[in-house]
Order: sequence, then C-alpha cells, then structure tokens
Amino acid sequence: MSATNQPSRVPTRIVVIGGVAAGMSAASQAKRRNQGAEVVVLERGPHISYSACGMPYNIGAPARAIDDLVIVDPATARTERGVDVRTRHEVLGVDLAARRVRVRALDTGTEEDLAWDALVIATGASATRPPLPGLELPGVFVLRELSDGEAIKRHLAARPVRSAVVIGAGYIGLEMADALRGLGVEVAVLEKLPQVLPGWAKPVSDEARAEVLRHGARVETGISVLGVERSGEQLCVRTDRGDFEAGLVLVSTGVRPSVALAKSAGIVLGASGAIAVDDHMRTSAPGVFAAGDCAEAHHRVTGRPVWIPLGTTANKMGKVAGANAAGGDERFAGIVGTAGFKLFDQEVARTGIDAAEASRLGLAAVDAVSRHHTRGKNYPGDRPVITSVTVERATGRLLGAQMIGGDAIGKRIDVFATALTAGMTVAQVEDLDLSYAPPFAPVYDPILIAATVARKAAERPVTQ
Ligand code: FAD
Ligand code: NAD
Repeated sequence: MSATNQPSRVPTRIVVIGGVAAGMSAASQAKRRNQGAEVVVLERGPHISYSACGMPYNIGAPARAIDDLVIVDPATARTERGVDVRTRHEVLGVDLAARRVRVRALDTGTEEDLAWDALVIATGASATRPPLPGLELPGVFVLRELSDGEAIKRHLAARPVRSAVVIGAGYIGLEMADALRGLGVEVAVLEKLPQVLPGWAKPVSDEARAEVLRHGARVETGISVLGVERSGEQLCVRTDRGDFEAGLVLVSTGVRPSVALAKSAGIVLGASGAIAVDDHMRTSAPGVFAAGDCAEAHHRVTGRPVWIPLGTTANKMGKVAGANAAGGDERFAGIVGTAGFKLFDQEVARTGIDAAEASRLGLAAVDAVSRHHTRGKNYPGDRPVITSVTVERATGRLLGAQMIGGDAIGKRIDVFATALTAGMTVAQVEDLDLSYAPPFAPVYDPILIAATVARKAAERPVTQ
C-alpha cells in the first residue's frame, strides 16, 4: 500500500460500511477529527455499536435485556455524534473509479448511488455454517450478531429447554457451554478436532476440557456431526457416535471475514483472505480504508500480516481508519494476539505464538509448561494455574504464553503481552519486579516461575 492512496483532499463525505465495533469507531473518530465532513454509516442490520463479546454472559442472565449490550443507538449517534447512521441499508457494490457505493434500503427496496471522498470498509466477519443438513431448522442458531443473541434468548424464554448441543469447542462454544450450564441446561459440546480449543497448548486444552466436565457438561472430541433433524418437539443431532437430543443447537464453528464487496471491487486481499491494509489502515485502493474483522493486522511478534478477529483490535483499527479517512496521519501499531475468556471458575488466555506456529515461520522454539498457584502459601482461595510459555531457542526471546487458572489469569496474561510488545527475552521476564502479597500472589508469581521454566527448557540441548 502506498502513501498515495490518502484521500486527495480533506474529504467532505466519508462513507463507512458496517456499524459495529470498527465501523462506529471509525465514524465517530472521523466526525471528531473533521466536524465539517458528512459522515454516513451504512449498516445492513437493525443494530449498531453493540458488545457482541457480552452476548454469552447476557444470554446466561435471562433478567438482562439484550439491549443492555448496545453502546450507542442510531438516534444518539445522530444527535450526539453527528453521524448519519442508516440501519437496514445494505451496500451492494463499490465503484472505485466513480467513488460511489450502491446502496439498497432493505425496508423499501429502493436503491441509490452514494458518492464518497473517503470510504471505510468495516464489514466484519460472519459465522460459518458447515454444509450439513438441518442447520436451517428452528432451534438451530449461530451467535454472531445482536439479533442472534436476541433470538437465542427468545427461544430459551419461550419453552423449557432441558438440553443443548454446542457444535464447535472454540471461544463461543465454550463460553456458551458455561452460560447454558448456568441456566441449568444439559450441554453436550461436539468438537471435530481431537481437543477442545484446537491450536492451544495441550495441557491448557486438557484443563479446559476438565473444567467443562467438572461442571456437568459432556464433551466429545474427534466427532463428526452428520446433520440435524426434527424429532417431535426436540431436535436430534446425528453424529458418527450416535444421536444427541436437544432443545437448542448452537453452531459455533468459526468465522470468516466478510470481504465480498472489497473483493469484487478489486481491493487486494491478504493471504488469510481478509483485506490487506498498511499501518494506516489503507487498502490497495486510493481513499479506501478497512478496519476490524474484515481486515488483517500487523503481528508484532512475527512481523507478518495476520487475521485474528477480535473486538479490541476492531475498535483500535476503526479509530485509526476513521482518523485517516478524515485526513489524519494515525498509525495502528499492530497486535500480539492477546485474547482471553471465562470458563466456569477459570480464566483462559493467550498471547503471541506457540512453537508450532514459530516452526512454520522457520523459528526453532520450545513450549515449556509449568504448574504453579496464584496466592501465598496456604492463603485461602489459592488456585492452581497452568502456564505454557514459548521461547525462541537461539535468542531466548519470549514468543508467546498461554494460561489457565483462577484469580485474574485473564489479566495476568497482559504481563506477557507487554513483554512481547517490548521484545523481551524470558530471562528479562524472570527479572521483572512483580508485586507480592499473599492475597493475590505467591512470592514468585506464576509468571516468574513460568519464565524460569521456559529459560531452562530453551537452554537444554535438543534431543533427537
Ligand atoms: P462486525 O461486528 O462483524 O460488524 C460488521 C457489520 O458490518 C455487521 O453489522 C454487518 O451487518 C455489516 N455489514 C457487512 N456487510 C455489509 C454490507 N454489504 N452493507 C452494510 N452493512 C454490512 N472479541 C474480543 O476481543 N473479546 C471477546 O470477549 C469477544 N467475545 C465475543 C463473543 C461473541 C459471541 C462474538 C460473536 C464475538 C466476540 N468477540 C470478542 C469478537 C468481536 O465481537 C468482533 O471482533 C467484533 O465485533 C468485530 O467488529 P467489526 O465491526 O469488525 O465487525
Ligand atoms: P473458533 O474458531 O474459536 O472455534 C470454532 C471451533 O469449531 C473450532 O474448535 C473448530 O475445530 C470447530 N469446528 C469447526 N467445524 C466443526 C464441525 N463441523 N463440527 C464440530 N466442530 C467444528 O470460532 P468461534 O468459537 O465460532 O468464535 C468465532 C470468533 O469470535 C473467534 O475466532 C474469536 O475471534 C471471536 N471470539 C472471541 C472471544 C474472546 O476473545 N473471548 C469470545 C468469543 C468469540
């Protein structure tokens, strides 16, 4: 991406496609930067600016309205932020040469062309649905948009749902297993790969599975789902290991970037299939920016573009895209791949890369697993923690970490994320002056212990 694709003049109309995390961050920032510009958000759905991340917790709390998750509604965006939000407006095409988008108002069916001086594509990602029969049946859901969360809540409120099948044991599958068990629903989690949280360190994944089992859910890994059928009032999930009856089926089998518009306009996609951007969120097309789950990000550990679709990244990218669409010169520093979630009484989190990923990039690395605890000796509430630290053999550089345990593990991972950002070695992590008091840490914090274990593992000669 070259610097020449900055808008040629201070834009008078900035059009944003998509109105959730990236889109509304972009629109609000653009308007703040350039009060004189007309900022138009075109959103296909009925909602804008909501916390998708909060949906599993909201579904687990029937008394909470789903609207609790809305951060800004269209009317407030118009009156308080000066952004022209048009919900139920779908962009059908982008004409780069004429600098126009083709828009359909879904409620009336009317279409129009809308000109732009700068364009932000924030079309996000969409839930994948495996090509299996029966996924269109009532009672089968994905969880991506606010309306999906709303539909699941309505389904749970309208009838007694005694059992649920969750297809896919990634982030959403495990968060929803937790939420549904909390509602007293019997849950079976069906994962096609050999472990829950595929791609995570085996000891972390094993502990996550054990936590799900401890809370009374069934977990089947390496299973093939064949389809869903209606069985009286219930649904029946057919698999190569038999049938699972359910009052609700959740398909949580991953997401893919929504790039059809960008692709058909001729905007360059990266190797991941998401839109390629530079550190200013510029795409290959002059005056066109992309942000959020539809775009790649720069990975600060590998130095390469990567697609890791997360809400925190979408907000930051959107802010940079909006500022630059309004004529600014902001830079997005990139990510280190930090993510975490609550799983019943534990927290699971990761940052950076593991040895398998390092090996694909030509780096010799080792994953070193340590088991420690979170509080002072015999202090009440002390919890076990498992940490897997990845270290580059040749340099001792920290490449990544994964943790599972109680006691704010989801935020303890941020020490590793900070160390990764600073390019520290594990020996430097060992030297960190981390706080100690028995209510919240042992004398040697699990992070320091994990760094020591990792340093020693990297120093050991490789055995064939
Ligand atoms: P999206 O939220 O996908 O929004 C894109 C919008 O663009 C959509 O509303 C879509 O309707 C609209 N659009 C697409 N095409 C068109 C078109 N042609 N015309 C008009 N509009 C269009 N991330 C975290 O960091 N932490 C978490 O804890 C976390 N938990 C999550 C839990 C769940 C259940 C889910 C679903 C996601 C979670 N995420 C989490 C991920 C996070 O929600 C996403 O990364 C974030 O929503 C991405 O924002 P976005 O604006 O890029 O895309
Ligand atoms: P995911 O990629 O985390 O997990 C999908 C799982 O489904 C994988 O384990 C995969 O092997 C499995 N799978 C795929 N096809 C299958 C099949 N046919 N049968 C059984 N299992 C199958 O995706 P997700 O859980 O849908 O979440 C989507 C995205 O949302 C995540 O990638 C993440 O970016 C984001 N998210 C983040 C958080 C968080 O950060 N706390 C929480 C929820 C969602």
